[in-house]
Amino acid sequence: MSNEPRSPGRHFLQIPGPTPIPERVVAAMARQVLDHRGPEFQKLGKRVLAGIKPLFKTQSHVIIYPASGTGAWEAALTNTLSPGDRVLMVETGQFAVLWKQMVDRLGLRAEVIQTDWRIGADANEIESHLRKDKAKAIKAVCVVHNETSTGCLTRLDEVRRALDATKHPALLMTDSISGLAAADLRHDEWGIDVTVAGSQKGLMMPPGLSFTAVSEKALAASKTATLARSYFSWDDMLAFNGDGWFPYTPATSLFYALDESIRLINEEGFENVLARHARLGEAVRIAVRSWGLEVNSREAKYDSPAVTTVLMPDGHNADAFRKLVLETFNMSLGTGLNRLAGKAFRIAHLGDTNELTILGALTGVEMGLELAGVPHKKGGVQAAMAYLADCAKPVAAKAA
Ligand SMILES: *Cc1c(COP(=O)(O)O)cnc(C)c1O
Repeated sequence: MSNEPRSPGRHFLQIPGPTPIPERVVAAMARQVLDHRGPEFQKLGKRVLAGIKPLFKTQSHVIIYPASGTGAWEAALTNTLSPGDRVLMVETGQFAVLWKQMVDRLGLRAEVIQTDWRIGADANEIESHLRKDKAKAIKAVCVVHNETSTGCLTRLDEVRRALDATKHPALLMTDSISGLAAADLRHDEWGIDVTVAGSQKGLMMPPGLSFTAVSEKALAASKTATLARSYFSWDDMLAFNGDGWFPYTPATSLFYALDESIRLINEEGFENVLARHARLGEAVRIAVRSWGLEVNSREAKYDSPAVTTVLMPDGHNADAFRKLVLETFNMSLGTGLNRLAGKAFRIAHLGDTNELTILGALTGVEMGLELAGVPHKKGGVQAAMAYLADCAKPVAAKAA
C-alpha cells in the first residue's frame, strides 16, 4: 500500500498514446492464454487479419507484429530497400526525426526537406525535389501522416498527386501510427505502398502491436530488396497469415483486445469514428483560440484530428504547467518534444473520447492556466461547449 493519498474519480489520460482503453477491451484481455497453434486461435487470427483491413481502407495485406510502432517502421524499411538507397523524408516533427535516425542507422541515405514543425509535409516541395531527381534514383518517400509531436497532419492525397505528377516510381510510405482510426487514411485509393500503424493510439488498445499495410508494389520491391531482415520479414508472415497463423508466437492476449477494438469501431461506424475525432479536435482548437493561446498547426488543412499542440506564452514553462495540472486535477497532458520541450503541451482527442471527456479535459486546462498565472482569456470551455452543442443538434432532435 502506498502512502500517497487516493485520487478519487478517474485519471484523465489526455496524451496522444497510450490512450485510454475502453472497459470492453480491458475485459476482453482478462482471459487465459490460448494455444496459438490451435483451432480457436486460428479463427481469431483470421478474424483480426481480415477485420483490420477496412481501417486502412485496403484490400491488400496488413501484417501484424508483436512490437511497438517503431518495429513496424523498421519492417517497412528493411523489407523494401537495399543498403545505400536514397530516401526522401520530410522533417515534420520529432517522429520524423526518429524515423530518419533509423534510416541512417540502417545504412540508407536520407534526403530531408525541412519544415518549421508547424505544417504537415508540403506536397509541392516533395514534387520539386522529385523533379530534380532526373535519374529517378530515389527509392522511397517517407512521410509521417499525423505528426503527434506538432499536431500537424500531412495530406497524403496531395503527396500521392506529387508522385504522380512527376511520374516518379518511388515507394510512398507513411507513418500513420497516431493517424489510424482518427484521420482520413486511404491506403489503396491514395496508392500508399506501406502504411505503418500501432495499437496504443486510435485503436484504444495497450501498446504492443504494430502493423504494416503493404501494397503489391511494395511486396514486389521486397523480392529484390537486400537490407537484412529476419524477425520482421514479410515473407515469413505472409507464408503463414493466409490460414490465420503466424511464424512465431503472436501476442495472443493483445489479439483479444484487437478483436474487441475492431468490433467497437464497427459498432460505432468507422466514418462516425473519424467524424467524432474531427469534431472533438475542432472543439479543442476553438477553446485554445478563445483563451488567446496559439495552436501550433499554422493552417486549417494541417490541423490534426488526433492531438492539438498548444504553444505556451513566452516566459511560461509548459512542463511546469503540466505538472501543476497533474498534481491538482489528476490529468496527464502530452509533453512538448524536442524543440518544443517546455514550449508546448499537447491535448489528445484520440481514441475512446467523447464530448464530455474532452470538455472535462479543457476545464482542467482552463483552471490550470488560471492557477499557473498564464495570461489567457476566460471562456474557452464555454466556446467549445457552444460548438459541441451545435454539432449535437441533429442527435438531440432525433431524441426529442
Ligand atoms: C507513437 C508514435 C510513434 C512511436 O511508436 P512506438 O509505439 O512508441 O514505437 C511513431 N510515430 C508516431 C507518429 C507516433 O505517434
